[in-house]
Amino acid sequence: MRIATLQHRHEARTCLAFAGPDGAFIAVPDALAGVSGGRETVRMSKLMFPETADWLQPGGIDMLATLKDAALAQGVAPADMNDWRLGPPVVNPGKIIAVGRNYMDHVREGQEIWAKRGKIVTIPQFPSAFAKFATSLCGPDSPILVPEGVDDVDYEIELAVVIGTRALNVSEADALDYVAGYTICNDVGARGIQRKEMEAQIGITLAKNFPNFAPMGPWMVTADEIPDPQTLEIGLEVDGEPRQRANTSDMIFSVPYLISYWSRVGLNPGDIIITGTPSGVALARAEPEKFYLRVGQTVTAWIDGIGVLRNTIADAP
Ligand code: MG
Repeated sequence: MRIATLQHRHEARTCLAFAGPDGAFIAVPDALAGVSGGRETVRMSKLMFPETADWLQPGGIDMLATLKDAALAQGVAPADMNDWRLGPPVVNPGKIIAVGRNYMDHVREGQEIWAKRGKIVTIPQFPSAFAKFATSLCGPDSPILVPEGVDDVDYEIELAVVIGTRALNVSEADALDYVAGYTICNDVGARGIQRKEMEAQIGITLAKNFPNFAPMGPWMVTADEIPDPQTLEIGLEVDGEPRQRANTSDMIFSVPYLISYWSRVGLNPGDIIITGTPSGVALARAEPEKFYLRVGQTVTAWIDGIGVLRNTIADAP
């Protein structure tokens, strides 16, 4: 099942929605109104509040599936996308853990960059990560915003794992049981600021967290549709020009390993792990300035079995 959030274009309203067989989205409030009546509808009222992540917890997605069947049977009309835009599938995650180096070819291109500066980057022995904040999220219908004074905004296609069940010290063998679904994240960063932050050896918190530096979506595909997250073709294009291409089988640390490792801090429903990017980022190219994202361009990130996340580039207001 494809689950999205819809943000009203003119009013401060956000709701959950699910895709019907034709791909059009049915808003949960419309579905609930269409199938109203009885105790079951009261129970389903948790689906009215996407920001709480209640809907991701065990039973919530089953409830959405039940509601979807009822709504389709009753012919509930899809949402009018003139009034709504797609938001990030999880609107208010408690945390977004962003794994830094998880594809060997990306590690190698990073090693080359730092070698020019006389620094040695080793092959990772554990999945180190930084934090992205909920304030950096946006959906596919919003632009990536270039901050004032920044001219080196870079892209990174990543598989995003959405946690559905509280996970604390879980084993690698059990880890996938804690996944609600998968989506796509473009882990956007400002490279010059990132370099300064890396040299300060604290973190890359500013470089990776400007508003709309975590486009996510276009929806979440529930975990039942992706039994093995290590088999997915992924790629990214800028104005149709291929920049990144890989398979998630190339990850150094698998999705179950990442969940198990990071469950040491305690993962809650709605928390997201983004799993690292393959090679091909602008920074690693011979003339990076020719490849950084420019206002007016469109960046397209895709993962087989999930969908296509497309964002335009605009100046920050
Ligand atoms: Mg990244």
